[in-house]
Amino acid sequence: MSFLSKTVGKAHAKEQARPETAPASPKTEPPAAGAGSEATVAPRVREARVDLLERISAFAMKHNLEVNGTNLAAICNALSGSNAQLAEAFVTREISGEPIDQRWLNTLERLDPETNDRIAELETLMDQLEYSLIRFAQTAKTAADETSDHRGALDAQITAMDQVKTGGDAGAEVARVIDLSRTMLESIARVESAMDKSQAETDSLRENLAKARMEADVDHLTRLPNRRAFERRLASAAAQARANKEPLCVAFCDIDHFKAVNDTHGHEAGDRILCAVASTLNSLASDDCFVARHGGEEFVLLFHGLTRYDAFEKLDGVRRAMSVKQLMNRETGRPFGKVTFSGGLAQVGEQGDPRDALAVADAALYQAKEQGRNRIIAS
Ligand code: GH3
Ligand code: MG
Ligand code: MG
Repeated sequence: MSFLSKTVGKAHAKEQARPETAPASPKTEPPAAGAGSEATVAPRVREARVDLLERISAFAMKHNLEVNGTNLAAICNALSGSNAQLAEAFVTREISGEPIDQRWLNTLERLDPETNDRIAELETLMDQLEYSLIRFAQTAKTAADETSDHRGALDAQITAMDQVKTGGDAGAEVARVIDLSRTMLESIARVESAMDKSQAETDSLRENLAKARMEADVDHLTRLPNRRAFERRLASAAAQARANKEPLCVAFCDIDHFKAVNDTHGHEAGDRILCAVASTLNSLASDDCFVARHGGEEFVLLFHGLTRYDAFEKLDGVRRAMSVKQLMNRETGRPFGKVTFSGGLAQVGEQGDPRDALAVADAALYQAKEQGRNRIIAS
């Protein structure tokens, strides 16, 4: 029986999926306090949990997936049916016969509606904060300008009064007004300095906000734009390409046998190879080419205004350049040998979802892997 066959029904009828991980009747329901402890968990619930755990580990082993929190959570959510969308994606993938591997799993992150909701909320909050800061800066600037005008006027008035100062009672009265005005002038100067300070603080807050926004779009290891930035760019580039009736191509590139690099040289050396490939691909980055890390050892490129042929030529040139280099592990002096990558390229259609082209490029990448790697296939 397929690992997923139990899940098929669950993806479509979530409530039927619950008995697998939750008690079937109130009689077997564990008490709230201490729920989950050995003593209080009913045997059927425990059995269901053991069964789920076994299916999760068998699934991870069968598909040769890394055992890490993200993978286990995704498999658990799919097999238990707690994320119906994810479960359906797993089932569809298995039925299609395409491999369920790390690369495909990475592309599923967007199926987590909670994460997407949280990102959307955070972005709304950042927008609101930026708007408030801009409004505050504008108000502060107007107030500062007005205060400065008042100070100027008062200063001129004091100078004028100083010049017409006379003797007698009137003179004493004028001197008192001048003293009072000077005190006011000092207060205004203090207010102005406080305003300058708060304006500087607002500017630095806005700068930090802009930095945080940029940082959220950058991959920490390679410093390339990340998938989030890519997805935004894809949407805007597709709209622009359609409006200008220009071609737009997308390519997925995946390092060949990268796991072997990690296994042989360690994860840190693997990170350095990732950065080297990122930098090689990034040599293509220009006004007509956007390069991003999609996740893991996979990169994604957007070619603006380039035909499939031209995009292929560019990407294949970089692939060839990479494939002749002999890389050395500078920490150990041991050779990495040749590090190559494979790629799949597709043109974004003039209609429909631009993401459809990603699926086509992904399928082309699989073909490139199947045909022996170290090649680009344009679909
Ligand atoms: P293929 O040619 O079929 O693509 O084989 P592969 O070995 O490159 O592909 P596989 O999917 O089996 O392994 C990818 C490996 O990439 C597994 C994972 O540990 C590693 N990896 C993913 N992200 C990182 C990272 O940020 N740093 C390092 N060092 N390794 C990573
Ligand atoms: Mg991969
Ligand atoms: Mg790979």
